[in-house]
Amino acid sequence: MISFDTLIDKARASNPNADTDLLRRAYDFSAAEHAGQKRRSGEPYLIHPLEVASLVADMRLDDVAIAAGLLHDVVEDTLTTIERVRELFGTDVAHVVEGVTKISSISFSSSEERQAENFRKMLLAMVDDIRVILVKLADRLHNMRTLDHLAEARRLIIAQETLDIYAPIAHRLGMKKVKDELQDLAFRHLDPRSYETTRAWVERRRKATRRAVQGLRETIERTLAEHRIPFDRIESRIKRLYGIHQKMKRQRIPLEQVYDLIALRVITTSVRDCYAVLGVIHQTWSPVPGRFKDFIAMPQANRYQSLHTSVVSDRGVPFEVQIRTEAMHAVAENGIAAHWKYKEGRIGVNPDEQHFAWLRQLLEFQQELRDPGEFIQNLKINLYPDEVYTFTPKGEVKALPRGATPIDFAYSIHTDVGHQCVGARVNGRMVPVRTRLASGDIVEVVTAPGHTPSRDWLNIVVTPRARNKIKHFIHAEEKLRAVELGRKLFDKELRRFNLSAKSVLAPESVSRVAAEFGSQRSDDLFAAVGYGKVPARSVLDKLVPRELEESAASSIGTVVRRVLRSGGDKVKVRGFDDLLVFRARCCNPIRGEKIVGYVTRGKGVSVHAARCPNVLNLLYDPERRIDVIWDKKADENGFVVQLGIQVEDRQGILADVTSKIAGLRTNVLKIEATTTDHHGRISVTVEITDMKHLQRIIKVIRGVSGVLEVERMMRQG
Ligand code: MN
Repeated sequence: MISFDTLIDKARASNPNADTDLLRRAYDFSAAEHAGQKRRSGEPYLIHPLEVASLVADMRLDDVAIAAGLLHDVVEDTLTTIERVRELFGTDVAHVVEGVTKISSISFSSSEERQAENFRKMLLAMVDDIRVILVKLADRLHNMRTLDHLAEARRLIIAQETLDIYAPIAHRLGMKKVKDELQDLAFRHLDPRSYETTRAWVERRRKATRRAVQGLRETIERTLAEHRIPFDRIESRIKRLYGIHQKMKRQRIPLEQVYDLIALRVITTSVRDCYAVLGVIHQTWSPVPGRFKDFIAMPQANRYQSLHTSVVSDRGVPFEVQIRTEAMHAVAENGIAAHWKYKEGRIGVNPDEQHFAWLRQLLEFQQELRDPGEFIQNLKINLYPDEVYTFTPKGEVKALPRGATPIDFAYSIHTDVGHQCVGARVNGRMVPVRTRLASGDIVEVVTAPGHTPSRDWLNIVVTPRARNKIKHFIHAEEKLRAVELGRKLFDKELRRFNLSAKSVLAPESVSRVAAEFGSQRSDDLFAAVGYGKVPARSVLDKLVPRELEESAASSIGTVVRRVLRSGGDKVKVRGFDDLLVFRARCCNPIRGEKIVGYVTRGKGVSVHAARCPNVLNLLYDPERRIDVIWDKKADENGFVVQLGIQVEDRQGILADVTSKIAGLRTNVLKIEATTTDHHGRISVTVEITDMKHLQRIIKVIRGVSGVLEVERMMRQG
């Protein structure tokens, strides 16, 4: 077990100015908080944070990250709060501890590769400070090293998650050593038999070929010396166990055919020498056709550079040789050669590469700095600025554009879920549909059967899918309303002339007339009437000769019948305006108020309050009046009303009026007050649900002392 003094030495080695007092305090605090806790192994819990901090120090991270390593479990596993950590150790340390705690609270289990990729992206997107993910990787590495003490079921889950999520992230971030160790440890737990077989075989091969490999090395050294080609050194490397296992599975070959098990690596002093070494090796042994790869001239997308070739030894055994400069070697060893996509069997340009290129540069740069803190401090990253990663309650990841709402989320599940969405529970709390989702949110859509999308949603959603589905729904619904309205307008026209629908609307004549107006079906024709594109009268003229209309109109029975039949002639008005039925701006009628409809030319039905002065003008053309009623089923959309209040000029009256309104659970949109000699005027704009609501508001305002008069303004100011 590592001692605290060793940790301090490590921290000082990479940063002579490391804040050892901070580390000492973090250590003492962690020791006190975890006191009495034991790991599954029976050892004191403190060993874990200490080892994690040590791994963080090995990564050459700054003192803030090392302190966070010491403290990373105190919020999750003790009674300490994040506020307490912030108080004692500052915002930076607390920020990293909080990030690690947040990531640790999410566990991943899905066999789907695409989900794993989204999950990895999400973890990275949740992290706004690279130190969070690095401390988390150190945490996972130590947990994997000590996994033996856990029950089997738990071990398998953690090992699989390590393989799916954390090893690829380490790989992506250029941490080859961490990745290799995570993979081999996970392999050992997930498939102990294959692991043991592979390990035993590799061990046998290594022993059996030790002499031969040594001989090859000496031969290469001698030959290069003869040709006077300078080189730094020659080393041999053995492929990692998990890498061997993957290759066998991918290429469906037995262990014996993994030819690059042992490779010799020549480290040269210049790029030119790489090619010179290659020439000599190809002269000395026969190259295996198809095995030569020039990653120097053509670096991999991940910047890995090296020459690879396989040659056949004197004894007929093939072996691989890698040739690279010291600089290329440093890049490869630090894991900066991230052949993630390549190793997963997919070769191609990775759109994420750009983000990671600079992140890798950052990590590289970090290795060269004397004081890593000076660079990484306050460095905030945002790897995926355009996306948020959210969860379904079942743990499936949904990637959405930034700014996405529960409605977008709902439509990404199913069109009907979207249509019926009335809100959502985000991380267990009810939120309105307008809420912008954040990465890591667990979203449970709340639906109400029969609920339908509204036009407002188009201003809220950000995904094209949601937008299209909503538009499609609204258009279809409007068409239905247009057909309904068109039929009503036509019926009204019929009654004017005392004609019955039966006698006029023979199927053949209707489709003939429909065609004349450019409509395919009778529904389309009535929709055109409803939309106001075709006057009902014109349709009637085409169906019935003018003389017949006139004689019918003159008959005495007309008036009586019209009165009797007008009951079924009502147009329903919903709370909000739509294309066909809209509330007149002049009087802004409110649900519950007496209303009158007026068929406009080409714009549908305008709805006025019965008290509106303009209604008198409508009498000029009584034929265009139409009965309208409030639709009881309509959504509870708010009506916006402006009230004018005359008051005495008294201090505090504005506050009294406002608090009375607020007491009725009313949304105040705007409030203005002006005073002129001893009198004041308050203008307040409120959002109400219906006429009763408005009357209650007016009543309570009148009850405020000093209020002289309250009136509803006709026009909205
Ligand atoms: Mn931990």
